[in-house]
Amino acid sequence: MRVTCRLMSDAGDLDLKPGLYVTATPIGNLGDITYRAVAALRGADLILCEDTRRTAKLCNAYGIKTRREAYHEHNAERMRPEILQRLQDGARICLVSDAGTPLISDPGFKLVSQARGANITVTPIPGPSALTAALSASGAPPDHFYFGGFAPSKAKARRDTFAALSDLRATLAFFETPSRLRDCLCDLIDALGDREACIARELTKIHEAFSVGKLSELLRNLNEKELRGEIVLLVYPPEIREVSDEMIVALVSELLKTMSVRNAAAQTASQLGVARKRAYAIALALADEK
Ligand code: SAM
Repeated sequence: MRVTCRLMSDAGDLDLKPGLYVTATPIGNLGDITYRAVAALRGADLILCEDTRRTAKLCNAYGIKTRREAYHEHNAERMRPEILQRLQDGARICLVSDAGTPLISDPGFKLVSQARGANITVTPIPGPSALTAALSASGAPPDHFYFGGFAPSKAKARRDTFAALSDLRATLAFFETPSRLRDCLCDLIDALGDREACIARELTKIHEAFSVGKLSELLRNLNEKELRGEIVLLVYPPEIREVSDEMIVALVSELLKTMSVRNAAAQTASQLGVARKRAYAIALALADEK
């Protein structure tokens, strides 16, 4: 404990150079902050926060007395020129979001890109992100992954988004809200087939939980508890096993005897783990031949 305290007070002595410091903060557990982040937050002239009250809690926990101002999607356009000017004048400014790494589905992109465009030094102070926390502990293949941020809230746009990703040989990662999780899982099954997936909830918090299984199982087992809290959804890559057109034709032909093109395609996609788009095209061609 004494070592921790000494390091934390050493951290406060960091001599910050002028520039913008993109600083990651905890995603739930207040202990998940780096010494360097505390030092930068203590040593800066200003902390730009999404929500000053949220960041106040963090600052109070670590004795950070630096002035805080709000920088969020509603005032960013107005604030940015002034912030850039302060940076040009030599200010040391930390940018934080409510939780995790700024810019990752959080404000800050235009500020960082315009600061770089103006030759202002931009320094990352890396740390937690719900994305990497979920990926690191879910068991989903991490070698190649695609981060889709929040999937679109409108059903058609969401389905189109998932359909466009159906052939990607990578783990798909999304931030999701509890109220949209059910619809999202249904659309994923439609677009990708019944792949393996993981719902990572409340990471680093008391009720942290990982649910792993087929998308259909996750959907079936969804309960009210899982519909609360913060969620990262990871969908495993398509199985490498190649499914030939002939295998799809055989199954679709059988199914078309008792069901519509749409349902035959959906069931084929789910059973063989192929994209619904591919099964649908074959089902449609077979139905047209009749
Ligand atoms: N920039 C943040 C980061 O790097 O983690 C993400 C900000 S984004 C606005 C917020 C979303 O991230 C939440 O809706 C949820 O999907 C995910 N998230 C944030 N904290 C989380 C946590 N502790 N557990 C699971 N997901 C989390």
